[in-house]
Amino acid sequence: MLVSMRQLLDEAAQGGYGVGAFNVNNMEQIQAIMEAARETQSPAIVQASRGARSYSQDRFLYHLMLAAAELYPEIPLVLHLDHGNSVETCKSAIGLGFTSVMMDGSLLPDGKTPSSFEYNVEATRKVVEMAHAQGVTVEGEIGVLGGIEDGHGAGLDGLSHVTDPDQAVEFVEKTGVDALAIAIGTSHGAYKFAKKPTGEVLKMDVLIEIHKKLPKTHLVMHGSSSVPKDLQDLINQYGGQLKPTFGVPVEEIQLGIRNGVRKINVDTDNRLAITGAIRKVFAEKPEKFDPRDYLKPAREAMQKVVAQRMTQFGQAGHAGDYQPIPIEEMAKLYAAGK
Ligand SMILES: [Zn+2]
Repeated sequence: MLVSMRQLLDEAAQGGYGVGAFNVNNMEQIQAIMEAARETQSPAIVQASRGARSYSQDRFLYHLMLAAAELYPEIPLVLHLDHGNSVETCKSAIGLGFTSVMMDGSLLPDGKTPSSFEYNVEATRKVVEMAHAQGVTVEGEIGVLGGIEDGHGAGLDGLSHVTDPDQAVEFVEKTGVDALAIAIGTSHGAYKFAKKPTGEVLKMDVLIEIHKKLPKTHLVMHGSSSVPKDLQDLINQYGGQLKPTFGVPVEEIQLGIRNGVRKINVDTDNRLAITGAIRKVFAEKPEKFDPRDYLKPAREAMQKVVAQRMTQFGQAGHAGDYQPIPIEEMAKLYAAGK
């Protein structure tokens, strides 16, 4: 059942758990997430980036997401736009039927150049006005993440624009966002850290400070794949050439969840699981040529990772906790200032 992200995150805050937000580009990825949600009885956030929307011509992806809501009625499901680059992009996602959008005004509309604080406030505030009028949730971003993914990102080191806690407070006050993505040293993509991250490079202390100043704002961790060694090894064992790399350890994410993190973005881990499974089939059964022979194991491998994260983030078992409030009802609640 479709639900606004605001309600889903409010429930998560009340229950003291986090919710994984998993990126999708195609049917198998959506199926993997929904099967994992059913297996673990979890609420689910399915998110599409601009890259995913263009890869799938928008409407293919949207109708796959609707199919997910139809086939898994017991799962509260959020359709979220990941890294909207402009007011226009957010507007088109809301028009399409997404129940939540991210306005990433930390970068200019080119998706590459870090913007000014004033620009970010202005663009995000516009999206909040437009989205809340329709009951749609808004995630904003303050500070700039490292790396580039799907052509989006400044390509900088994760530590170049760590979020300033006081600026985060001002940003939330001026924009009225429901959820806030912060930069604490993480990057998009597989290559996040050269060794297991310490507090020098992964600024959990900044996150904790922001939560203390903004106890009611739902915090979002981007670039939070754990990049497990076994998934890297599987790819390399079957002919891949990944360089050694480290992600965000699950125990650090769990520390974040105890300090206001409600949404955790995971994409790379699923990509690794899919690629490893496909490489294994290609290497072990080179006579196979039906795409289902490798897409089925790929889908199963992703489902396993997603179910594991759902359990680790604490969202497992919470699918039946609440009745989704219709989006139109959410619009009335926003209008009433609730
Ligand atoms: Zn991101």
